[in-house]
Amino acid sequence: MRLPAVITAACLLSVLSVTAQRGSPDGLRLYVFDGGTLASADMSRYRLTASEVATTNMSVTCFLVRHPRGVLMWDAGAVPDASWTPTGRPELQHLTMPDGQMREVTITSRLLPQLMAAGVAPAAVTHLALSHYHWDHTANANAFAAATWLVRPVERDAMLAATPPALTQPSTYASLRGSRVTAITSDDYDVFGDGTVVIKIAAGHTPGHQVLFVRLPRTGAVVLSGDLYHYPEERALGRIPTFDADQAQTAAARQGIDAFLKRSGAQLWIQHDFTGSAKLRKAPAYYD
Ligand SMILES: [Zn+2]
Repeated sequence: MRLPAVITAACLLSVLSVTAQRGSPDGLRLYVFDGGTLASADMSRYRLTASEVATTNMSVTCFLVRHPRGVLMWDAGAVPDASWTPTGRPELQHLTMPDGQMREVTITSRLLPQLMAAGVAPAAVTHLALSHYHWDHTANANAFAAATWLVRPVERDAMLAATPPALTQPSTYASLRGSRVTAITSDDYDVFGDGTVVIKIAAGHTPGHQVLFVRLPRTGAVVLSGDLYHYPEERALGRIPTFDADQAQTAAARQGIDAFLKRSGAQLWIQHDFTGSAKLRKAPAYYD
């Protein structure tokens, strides 16, 4: 007579596992923000040709994780909010890197108003993490200087050096110099202590490049790529950008993250993937 009870319990468990991933708290949410479109002038930097990719455009995306124990901002865009005025139409912005390199971003919305529309004031952000130090990931970092900066020392030291690396915009993160810092010295860093939001080392693109794993209660597990890849074709064709700090390290990081994706069943969201990002629902909507 005990069998039906066991079966009932098993059915109940399977129903629960469909509605909520084990250990992921209700209230865990992932927001996606639109940071504009980056036009790539030179595909050879990615060891690709224009005919090998679906589009040469790249999306710029930033993310925010709301967890019962805190709020994590992941990346901060390519264009500082204060540097342009929205008109409601896409606006072309020309950015000049400190070394004179030019970049063009077409952008429609500022980042902080998108946060506010999602009900999050910048001061409510408790943790900031950047996938890496390149200019198109740091533009509004100063707005989160009151948060605890989760950063690998090798990355922070390079950012704040007297001569910062190429492709950085030091003025956009200068305020982080005074921020509270949690130095990440392990490959994995469990942000809220319950295994649902984990920063993972994926070095190579820059010395402290990292990706973000989020296990959502209903959507399931997602890995935000940083710049482990820019174009999905880099993954399909096995191409590594010429400007990665350590290309052999990138290859190893890709293998490691691929193995993790298989183990965890997580989806990979390539942050610069124009076609993939266009399909994501944007804040104030969210993934939970
Ligand atoms: Zn990038």
